[in-house]
Order: sequence, then structure tokens, then C-alpha cells
Amino acid sequence: MSIKVVKFGGSSLADAKQFEKVASIVKADPQRRYVVASAPGKRSSDDIKVTDMLYDCYKLVAKKQSIDEAFSKIEDRYNQIIRELGLDFSLDEEFQRIKMSIVHHAGRDYVASRGEYLNSMILAEYLGYDFIDAETGIFFDEAGKFDSANTYETLAKILEEHEHAVIPGFYGVMPNGTIKTFSRGGSDITGSIVARATDADIYENWTDVSGMLMADPRCVENPKVIETITYKELRELSYMGATVMHEDAIFPVREACIPINIRNTNSPEDNGTMIVPSTKEIKRVITGIAGKMGFSTISIEKDTMGSELGFGRKVLEILEKHGVSFEHVPSGVDTMSVIVSTDSIDKIRDEITAGIFKLVNADSVVIEDGLALIAVVGRGMVKAKGTAARVFSSIYNAGINIKMIDQGSSELNIIIGVDECDYQATLNAIYNEFDK
Ligand code: ASP
Repeated sequence: MSIKVVKFGGSSLADAKQFEKVASIVKADPQRRYVVASAPGKRSSDDIKVTDMLYDCYKLVAKKQSIDEAFSKIEDRYNQIIRELGLDFSLDEEFQRIKMSIVHHAGRDYVASRGEYLNSMILAEYLGYDFIDAETGIFFDEAGKFDSANTYETLAKILEEHEHAVIPGFYGVMPNGTIKTFSRGGSDITGSIVARATDADIYENWTDVSGMLMADPRCVENPKVIETITYKELRELSYMGATVMHEDAIFPVREACIPINIRNTNSPEDNGTMIVPSTKEIKRVITGIAGKMGFSTISIEKDTMGSELGFGRKVLEILEKHGVSFEHVPSGVDTMSVIVSTDSIDKIRDEITAGIFKLVNADSVVIEDGLALIAVVGRGMVKAKGTAARVFSSIYNAGINIKMIDQGSSELNIIIGVDECDYQATLNAIYNEFDK
């Protein structure tokens, strides 16, 4: 039978009502055999995630303060879920053990990981699935890097023995036995790892939105949901700030060509977004638009630059020496610009300017802040004519000046630089042009 790995995020498992929705989703499809769970998230906008409550406990211990009150609030969250689900089940012994470990200076990652550990125990009990601790099958190496080979082999063997199981997200174990977490939001990565280890047909990532949107809803009114997006397009959009899940979650499944389906626990009838290795299906020229503010342009001028071998390399060498990575390098005959994030050069502007002056004997080096970059991404643009014309006309018609243009050689994206004050208007102009 084919396997679906399903991961539920914190808001999908925040209280008993959400647990009920999760159970009906899981039980609606017998292929949904392996479930990855997050810790209870926010029940309302002013609520606190259990993971944050656990980090607070860790901080209290470091400050030599009591965790009694903070920890009992965590116990209450879980006990309320257990009670409202009507389960004949107690986590009291676990609470005691975990509290003891925290008080006795357990590591920060161990403390944070208990959110998913406890929530998964409840979910396993509620679904009647086996509970499998992530520390038995998800490994990190000595350097703290995810140990994929060891993990896939061991986890596959463990899961083979279980028809149905719940696995806590977010953490694994180091070679010395200590618990280590992924970065925040890391249960998405666990879901992807489990999908890979079980060679699943699909990785369903259940969250609280009905998929990835074509543009940021804080900037564009009511953007449409992306029905299908390729891994490559997703990388381009996430790099520019569009998020729908943890960025690293695509790697384990991408290697095995397993598609991801982003779904909404609160609206399970919606199809959500399919993230696929590749597809011939093109319904729209543009798949999505994303952007970021906070970029600076370093403009370098030198009369003989055009004929000077190694000029660009020397400029980039200075940036490399200061640990600054560059975004784009648009250039003219005797001019070269390097676009970098303002944060990355903020404290070392003078050193960079002086370094470039000295190494390449420039006529002038000027740094200008306040640039926004917008990426227009779409597999529908590849080898198609007229997309760039439509993008630029829409910006021109909105009365906006374009400061930089870059088209990736894959033709999958067009990057446009505009003044930060024109950022939102540019996003809207492009979105409206293609939302026809
Ligand atoms: N609970 C962890 C967090 O809040 C991990 C996750 O939910 O994915 O970041």
C-alpha cells in the first residue's frame, strides 16, 4: 500500500478541538500511516507556544529562579487537551521526570524538544498509533549536522515494524546521546525525513493556511493560492522571503522526488499547494512574486575598467574577505555595481569602500541604501516571449522607476530593483498584470 506521511504544525495541535480535526483527517485515509507532530502552538494571537514556554523554563533555571509556576502552566496545557479529549491517560510521570531534568540543568535543546515529545504521546494515544521517540531514529553527527545516511537506514527499519506511528518533530540525537533540535519550525524537516525514510508517495504538511500564496497578503490584497509549484521555483521564492514551511524541509524529499502537499487543517476540503520535482502543467505564466527590502548598491567607477582583467574578481575578493555575500552584479563598460544586503555591510562600510579604492584604484566608490528587490518567478516564462515586456510595462504604467534588472539564465526568474518606497506599488502592479 502506498504511504502518506502527514505532519501537523503547532496551530493544528494547539488544543483538543484541533486534535479532533487532526484525527478525522488522519482516519479519513488509510494511507496516512505515519504522523509527525509539533508542540502545541498558539490558540489565539496573544497565546504562547509551548516551545516558547519551555525556553522560558530553561532561562529561569539559568537565572537560578524557580520554574514551578512556569512548568505547571505547561502541564495545564497538556492536561486540558487530555481531559477534553476524554482520554484515560496521564503524563504525570513524564512531567515529573522532565521537570527534574530541567531543574538539574538539562540542555536547551532537550528542554525545547519536550514540547513535541509530550504532544506526540497524546496524539499517539488518541489515534491508537504507536509512539516512536525521534531520538531512536533521527541522528546528528559530531559537528551537529543532520546525519542523513544513518537516519534513513535506521528510521526505515524502525518504521517497517510499525503499521501506524506518531513521531515527534523538531529533534533528534547527537552521537553522545544528547538531544539536539533543528532550528525553529523544524518539525517540517522531521516530516520530510520520515517521508524520505519510508519512501512515501507524498508528504502532506498540514498547517493553518490553504497553501502558498502568489504574493505576500500583507502587500497584495487577496492573492490567489499557488496550485502547483516546482522545487526550483519554491527555492527562488523562499530565498526572497516567501515562506510556507521551513526552508530546509524540501531537501530530504527533493532528493527522492517525493511531492509535498501543503494543506489546511481547518479547511481540509481545499487542495492546497502541490510542490513537485517538475511538471509540464502550466496554467499561469507567473507562479509567484516575492520581494525584500533592505539592500544596498555599491557602485564602482573606473575609466579603464572595461579592459582591465581581474577587476571584478578583486572587488568581490574584498567582500569575501569581510564575509559579505553578494546578490547581483549588474555592470556597464566602466562601471560595476554590487548589490548586497544593507545589514551585511552596515558596520564595515568604510573598510569596504577603502579596500575597493585601494585594490582596484577606482575613480569612485559609492554605497547607496534603500533598494528593494522583487523576484518574479515562473516556469511558464521559460522560452516564452513577452513576459519581461509585461512585467516592465506594468511597472512603467504605475509610474515607478526601475533601478536594476537581472534575469537568471534559467529564465525561471526576473529580479527587479526599485526604491524601497515603491516596493508595495511594484508588487501590486506586477501581480495585477498577471492576475488576469
Ligand atoms: N515547536 C517548534 C517551534 O515552535 C518546532 C515546530 O513547531 O516545528 O519552532
